[in-house]
Amino acid sequence: MARGPAHVPGVTMAGSFLRVACADCENEQVVFGKASSVVSCAVCGTTLATPTGGEADLYGDVVETVEAR
Ligand SMILES: [Zn+2]
Repeated sequence: MARGPAHVPGVTMAGSFLRVACADCENEQVVFGKASSVVSCAVCGTTLATPTGGEADLYGDVVETVEAR
């Protein structure tokens, strides 16, 4: 899997990407702040984010916020 923020053309909804450190293995993974599906750690499979309909619930530490441009 590629790491780092994905460049998605044609995005119409403002949002931000969050770099989240997995609590179990310290893998850092970029998660969309309004993720619409469960995001799992690519290394150990721990759930990093679950959708709520708005801002996703995040598990682990947010290392950095990457604003969408
Ligand atoms: Zn992990």
